Amino acid sequence: MDEFSLINTFFKSISHYRDDVIFGIGDDAACLQVPAGMQLLVSTDTLVENIHFLSSWNAYDIAYRSLMINISDIASMGAQPCWVSLALTLPAMNTQWLQNFSQGLKDGLNEYNIALIGGDTTCGPLTITLTIHGLIPTGKAIRRSGAVVGDKIYVTGQLGAAAFAVSHLLQPQQLMPAITEADTRTLLKALLHPTPRVDLSAYLQSFATAAIDISDGISADLNHICVASGVGACIDLNKIPVHSLLRSDGIENALDFALHGGDDYELCFTVNPQNEEQLLSNLANERSACYCIGIIEDTLGLRAKTVSGDVIFIEPQGYNHFKDKRV
Ligand code: ADP
Ligand code: MG
Repeated sequence: MDEFSLINTFFKSISHYRDDVIFGIGDDAACLQVPAGMQLLVSTDTLVENIHFLSSWNAYDIAYRSLMINISDIASMGAQPCWVSLALTLPAMNTQWLQNFSQGLKDGLNEYNIALIGGDTTCGPLTITLTIHGLIPTGKAIRRSGAVVGDKIYVTGQLGAAAFAVSHLLQPQQLMPAITEADTRTLLKALLHPTPRVDLSAYLQSFATAAIDISDGISADLNHICVASGVGACIDLNKIPVHSLLRSDGIENALDFALHGGDDYELCFTVNPQNEEQLLSNLANERSACYCIGIIEDTLGLRAKTVSGDVIFIEPQGYNHFKDKRV
């Protein structure tokens, strides 16, 4: 199979239909219809073998997770994902691998109503680059820079499960006896099949002053909001929504996984306290849990109120390419 039949078999065939794709795969560029009154958001993420995923993972999971991570960047802006392109670098032609990869991508595209509109296919070390396009009503995109002193800091779900899975569950011999098979599946799902919070886009548009998705860990990502907004933050360590499976006996450093682990793909956002009550009542109707973890302050830097009530400075930690190496 050559490059062109590969594209036709595994990618052209899976493209989910949207009527705003005037033409997609097959020309030198795709042509897309941006509706009047909307703005286009564009974001790119590259995933490199043995940095962002292990080559031993199922290709289905590699594709699905790559797409979810990309969608999360659009969700964090309060927008809706619409179109994606894929630049795929493969070490060899492996049709079984490609079949699984394209199935994972297809399922993700269908689930979130996203069209695959083009890409590039090359031979080399396994690397996946997705460029996602989203739509937002003009002027409504939520940025990192909008947090103001007094805003409450929220996160949209429980944290730490994916990072725990990376450090404990990827190698079978590291399985801890305290964790049941069902819990192991739940933890691995958090890592391999994260759920980008597109469901909350409308709430972010209405209520958030700033937002970011939690890819590096809440300490690093909240710090990005603070730096961009020119403010500081104080979080309450008692209020961090540590994932319920990490709260069980025998799991050490659960709070560290939740604070610094990353790969959660929940959102962190700030909200003016005057709008908090309305936000919470709207979220309650949706049965969506959001957790208030702290407040924006004018003193720069990140502080944390400990269990004993002391306030300590915390160093934002998170994955930093060229500095750290992970999986
Ligand atoms: P060019 O030579 O102009 O770069 P290509 O031969 O690379 O064109 O691609 C042919 C068509 O297939 C283009 O429309 C391109 O967007 C699409 N394409 C290439 N690789 C992929 C891929 N991995 N996934 C989706 N579309 C792809
Ligand atoms: Mg090309």
